[in-house]
Amino acid sequence: MNNKLHNIHQIISEIANKLAEGDQHLIISLQRELDNLLLHSPEDDTGPSTPHPDKASGCYKFGDDPDYYCPHCFDNLQQKISTQRLNRQLRVCPQCRSSLRPLQ
Ligand SMILES: [Zn+2]
Repeated sequence: MNNKLHNIHQIISEIANKLAEGDQHLIISLQRELDNLLLHSPEDDTGPSTPHPDKASGCYKFGDDPDYYCPHCFDNLQQKISTQRLNRQLRVCPQCRSSLRPLQ
């Protein structure tokens, strides 16, 4: 557990001490929600393992990785295959030979 989280829990239990018996459930729900949020928070949306379809190329991009990856290989084989640029409009995947063009 990191320090910030520890502080939050400390604050919450201080609040809990000041609350009437009948209001304790509020704190318990708050604590539960907080735990859910922190334990199960999905990986950051811009994380390196989350693909982002790139409309301009028709490829997938990952996080701040500058490479363009083949969406077919990633979806079907869970492989990150870096595509090669053929020309301004077209890229090709060296693995599955898909040609990738900008999405409409
Ligand atoms: Zn491919």
